[in-house]
Amino acid sequence: MNLILLGPPGAGKGTQADVIAARLKLAKLSTGDMLRAAVAEGSELGKKVKDIMVSGALVPDDIIIAMIRDRIKQPDCKNGYILDGFPRTLAQAEALDGMLAKEGTALDHVIELAVDDAALIERISGRFSCAKCGAGYNDKSKPTRKTGVCDACAGTEFIRRKDDNAATVSERLKAYHAQTAPLLPYYRKKGNLAAVDGMADIKDVERQIAVILGK
Ligand code: ADP
Ligand code: ADP
Ligand code: ZN
Repeated sequence: MNLILLGPPGAGKGTQADVIAARLKLAKLSTGDMLRAAVAEGSELGKKVKDIMVSGALVPDDIIIAMIRDRIKQPDCKNGYILDGFPRTLAQAEALDGMLAKEGTALDHVIELAVDDAALIERISGRFSCAKCGAGYNDKSKPTRKTGVCDACAGTEFIRRKDDNAATVSERLKAYHAQTAPLLPYYRKKGNLAAVDGMADIKDVERQIAVILGK
């Protein structure tokens, strides 16, 4: 099964992708995570994208498309994958269609997480993750069970993303509305778009998605 989780920054794509990936044994492909890993490594790619990411603008399509083209060829994608944060432009969506057609596979579902802009800003300001295992948390809606200790790995170091600040968030929301929202009618026309109420709590969103997936 191949899925896309589509929605604005902070909608809950990464949170839900982790849950579905673990439950259905699918690979989770997050272009944001891949880019942040490149920046952390200081690779050529990382140097190219660092400033763009800090500004809140989108990284050029050719870079992203090449990254995904390589990634979906990896053995862990054989069973299917969840795309989190890709595609984000029509050019990326069209390139993905080309890749899938070439491999004789298709997208099973495109799931839209619909969330109001005001709630996004609040979610993003409260977002943090475990430095050791990457588990995602939120000050308000998903704190660690024990303060200062990761539920998943008992790690005690946490990180906040550099781009999770008010100024960058408003740029990222603009980019979403201008460049990514046009993907909604694109997939609606193809007939595989389903929307969930992303304003609901995390467990409820999980249940809504399970209904769409039929498992
Ligand atoms: P969020 O979790 O807030 O939706 P991501 O982690 O997906 O954010 O992305 C962080 C940043 O990485 C984006 O603001 C953008 O600069 C870059 N990025 C990630 N995915 C893509 C993509 N598919 N196309 C262009 N830029 C991307
Ligand atoms: P995205 O990957 O779409 O940018 P995340 O999954 O990182 O979004 O979620 C953004 C923040 O909001 C995180 O801190 C996460 O713990 C929290 N969050 C995710 N889903 C919900 C929800 N349904 N209700 C409240 N908070 C949520
Ligand atoms: Zn951890």
